[in-house]
Amino acid sequence: IKKIPLDKILFSQGFGTRRHCNNLVFADMVKVNGVLVEDPQELFSPINLLLTIEGQDWEFHEKAYIVFNKPTGYECSHKTKHHPSIYGLLPAPLIERGVQCVGRLDQDTTGLLLISDDGQFIHKMTSPKKNIGKVYQITTAEVIQKEQIERLLNGVVLDDDPTPCNAIACEQVGDFQLNMTIVEGRYHQVKRMMVAAGNHVEQLHRFQIGEFVLPEALKEGEWRWLKPDELNQLS
Ligand code: URA
Repeated sequence: IKKIPLDKILFSQGFGTRRHCNNLVFADMVKVNGVLVEDPQELFSPINLLLTIEGQDWEFHEKAYIVFNKPTGYECSHKTKHHPSIYGLLPAPLIERGVQCVGRLDQDTTGLLLISDDGQFIHKMTSPKKNIGKVYQITTAEVIQKEQIERLLNGVVLDDDPTPCNAIACEQVGDFQLNMTIVEGRYHQVKRMMVAAGNHVEQLHRFQIGEFVLPEALKEGEWRWLKPDELNQLS
């Protein structure tokens, strides 16, 4: 593995301009694997690197692949209209790196959100051609009828597009609760499908993308790096 100068490593992780990264090192603000480094040009292999910047630990990751448990009341946008941004719940270096959501969730939707700075990954995960299922737990306003589930599975037409869209799986888990899998990501898709099927979404929670399930240990508003095997599950 090619060794890289420390200031370049810091820059790649979102700690500001090359000059700012230099200054952090000169100001004795940077440790690598627990050891203070004084020369910004000192070389390191970027593997299993733990940086400490101004007292805060930071794992080196060449690309950011993040799992986030979205709370209600946040918008998945950098410039929000009515609610605070989910990006405000992430550390500044990730924002500096230009991370984006892998498909947006509505302000009032909770649960599994993947976030990355790898454009190819984002594209692959959101392309309907890849057939990656997203599983939503839906709480409905009215008791769910069998015919409604049939309509969802057979395909419903949304108002802005004559091409029907359908659930690829539906599992009723209660009178007012349904787990539904979809592969596309049209605007307000689940809510509009439920209206088209004759019901109404009260609460919406996404808990699975592909084979990857929202980790139980991750509380609302928390994030963590995806583990290599979890990333493999998705790619
Ligand atoms: N479908 C919706 O209607 N809202 C979401 O947040 C996600 C899917």
